[in-house]
Amino acid sequence: MPELPEVETVMRGLQAALEGRVIRRAAVHRADLRRAFPPGLAARLTGARVTGFRRRAKYILMRLDGGDSVLFHLGMSGRMLIGPAGVHDVPRHEHLTLETEDGWWVGFIDPRRFGCIDLVATAAEDAHGLLAGLGPEPLDAAFTPAVLSAALAGRRSPIKAALLDQGTVAGLGNIYVCEALFRAGISPRRLAGTVAGARAVRLVAEIKATLTEAIAAGGSSLRDYVRPDGELGYFQHAWKVYGREGEACERCPGPPACPGVCRIVQSGRSTFYCRATQR
Ligand SMILES: [Zn+2]
Repeated sequence: MPELPEVETVMRGLQAALEGRVIRRAAVHRADLRRAFPPGLAARLTGARVTGFRRRAKYILMRLDGGDSVLFHLGMSGRMLIGPAGVHDVPRHEHLTLETEDGWWVGFIDPRRFGCIDLVATAAEDAHGLLAGLGPEPLDAAFTPAVLSAALAGRRSPIKAALLDQGTVAGLGNIYVCEALFRAGISPRRLAGTVAGARAVRLVAEIKATLTEAIAAGGSSLRDYVRPDGELGYFQHAWKVYGREGEACERCPGPPACPGVCRIVQSGRSTFYCRATQR
């Protein structure tokens, strides 16, 4: 599943390809994904100029000059393909195709169809049902240790579950929560309500650093964002703990102090952490 840095990279690729350009043609190849497409989607896209982009959690908002924003979510398997002018054979599972005035095309592909495409008034983006309940953006200056500890106060769930709750902070998935907790030295099992003071300071700093580093690794130009097959985004990472059960932990000298990275299951999902240093 694409995580926040991948979504940010996909959005930057779309921005490089589409911002300022007119959509000459839009074609919708089915009626729905997780939810029905809005009525007249292709007609409202055709002829519109793309004025800008915004990411909110793992949603991409593409703003049009007519006052609409197109909301995209990649779901479990969603991808954006992009290509220069020329014949575009619509591949299987491509549900929306956009063609710009200068001939570039962008396709939204989603074999498992957990993704989403919707329209919302740009002036009311945050009132959309999928965005209304989201907590602060982790990379915004407004996401501070004080804001996080206030959101966690009194909560008796494990800190890992509280961070995956999109109302606490928006857009964090399993991988980044594991990585940030490791880097902050906080046990994923710790009661959320006890993460305050210096722990909240460390955790907020490591959430921001983990995401910022991953976004930076995605590159800074359209060339970086587009893979040879035309897919936007990047999916190569070196994780410190995620997926590394039994491997040496980079912070510890090894056994017996630390047996290596452990895996436990919390709320049905794998958690990777160091038992010796995460408290
Ligand atoms: Zn360790």
